[in-house]
Parts: sequence; structure tokens; C-alpha cells
Amino acid sequence: MQAIFLDRDGTLNKDSGYVHKVEDFELYDDVIPSLQRLKGFALFIVTNQSGVGRGHYTEQQMHAFNDYLAAELNQHGVVIRKVYACCHTPEQGCACRKPGTQFVEQAKKEFGVTLEKSWVIGDHPADVLLAKNAGMRSVLVLTGHGAKHIEESRKAYPSYIAANLSQAATFILADQDKKTIPREKIGNVAQEERKKGKTIVTLNGTFDILHPGHEKIIREAKAQGDILIIAVNSDSSVRGNKGPQRPFNNEQARARMIAAFPEVDYVTVFPESHPIALLEDIRPDVHVNGSEYGKDCIEAETVRKHGGRIHIVRLLEGHSTTTLVKG
Ligand SMILES: [Mg+2]
Ligand SMILES: [Zn+2]
Repeated sequence: MQAIFLDRDGTLNKDSGYVHKVEDFELYDDVIPSLQRLKGFALFIVTNQSGVGRGHYTEQQMHAFNDYLAAELNQHGVVIRKVYACCHTPEQGCACRKPGTQFVEQAKKEFGVTLEKSWVIGDHPADVLLAKNAGMRSVLVLTGHGAKHIEESRKAYPSYIAANLSQAATFILADQDKKTIPREKIGNVAQEERKKGKTIVTLNGTFDILHPGHEKIIREAKAQGDILIIAVNSDSSVRGNKGPQRPFNNEQARARMIAAFPEVDYVTVFPESHPIALLEDIRPDVHVNGSEYGKDCIEAETVRKHGGRIHIVRLLEGHSTTTLVKG
């Protein structure tokens, strides 16, 4: 059985700090639809509740909160198989506090969970480390404390860093590599589509942690023609352009996420620092760019030479990977 071990505070419900009162319970907006999409997995909650051990609230209060949460999800057809809660303080050195693996080992025995095929989703380094310690994959979400501890979490290599639970679900469900074409074959794929009478649209970028601006530009790009090809900058080219701390998500993960967009027909990862050679190979009818570059972007000459045009998408104010990770 494939499972997803969900963190509770900051991942499912808003975390006001030792949250324990049912009156303070508030789910993030995207939680129910996201968990409904993940119904093919057995869902568990694994939560560190040191507030009990520290005397901030009772174990009974904690159970009441967990029951309320599970009932709320259940009303929407989302079944939580079990809530595993550690009530110890870090000083007690128990084996059940994340990133300790006791609870997931228990789920393996109790429910027949195959850990290698299972995932952890959480907002804290302990969640990512739990996955690493138990041989699972993980998605770090930037809700809750996710953005604050992002650098520490990165050290435990989450499979993906997502802005929210909805993106985490999309990443987990993405049909891996279905649309991904090697760089050296993308030109041929484009020419085959052209022979069928299709118009080709290209768009390139890092597409690191996704935000609404990415969704806008992808949607608008698709509206410019029949076939949308997205070229994702390789990790080394991103490091060259943006510095050694970028990207947050590796090229394979970024391509997987882009491939999950229904608007996207093909994805390729390209190693060059600019897309000129790529555009020579593809010869797009339309090449799409963000408004920070303008109509006379470095790609313009290559695109026009082959009879194509540049389409500029106005960027959404206030959205970037940088503003996301600053929380
Ligand atoms: Mg949390
Ligand atoms: Zn414990």
C-alpha cells in the first residue's frame, strides 16, 4: 500500500503556535480538494505535539482537535486512516518524535504500507528528514513554517518544494516524464508537429517554485498556437544565471511539474544559458516571453528570421519565487 504521511500544523491547518483549541481550527483553502485528488493513497497524519509534554494543553484536548480535523475531512470524503501523535518534548529523546521513524514503521506493520512508495508532506525540516530516514520521498510545503526553515529543509533533499498542498498533490500525481523530450530530439518533435499542420509555441524559464504568474504565462502561451513546448533551464544554467543557491527544485522535478500542466504538450531541459540554439532547432511560430524582456529580447532575431513572432505576457505584480521563499 502506498501512503502519504501528512504533517498537521502548517500543512493542513493554520499554525498559530501550539494550536490545540477546536475554536482555532482553520484548514488552508486548498486542503480538501488536494486530499480528494490523493485518494489513491492511504492517508495518515504524523504530528509532533510537544505542547502536551510541555504542559501547554492536555492530551485530551489534542485528541479532540485531531478528531475534529478528521471529521471535517471525512465529511468531504477524505479518510485519514490514523493520526499518530508524539506528545513528548524533544528533551525526552523518544523515538516517535519526527524525524524519528517509529510511527511510520508502525504504519508499515499495522497497515502494510510500502515505505519506498510512500511520501511525506510537511512544512518543517523534521518532515523532510523523516522521509529521508525512512526511505520515503517528500514534498516540503512553504505554508506554515516552510518558508522560514527552507534552507535547513533543503539539506535533507525534499523531492520537491511546493508553495502549497495543491502543488504537492500535483507533483506526487504527475505522470513522470510522459511529455519530457531530450534536448537533442526536441527539434525533430517540433518539425513532426509542423508537418501535421500544427503551429508551435515556445516558452522557456526556470519554473522553480511555481506561483500564479507561471500559471498565467503558461495559459497565455498555449492560447497562441496548437503545440506548447516549454524549455526548462538546466540546474547548471540556473546556477550560472542566478547564483549557487538556486534553483530550489532540481531540473527533473521542475520538468515533472511543468509536464503536469494540461496546457503543456512537451517539456525539454536545456543546458545553454540562453535559448538561441534551441529556437534555431524548434523554429517556433510564436515565442512567448515575460514583459521584463520586451519585444526586442535576445531571442527575437532568431524567431523572426524563421517567420515567427514574439508574444509578450504582462507579468503579475508581486509574484516570484523570491517573494515566496521570503514567506
Ligand atoms: Mg508543521
Ligand atoms: Zn514521542
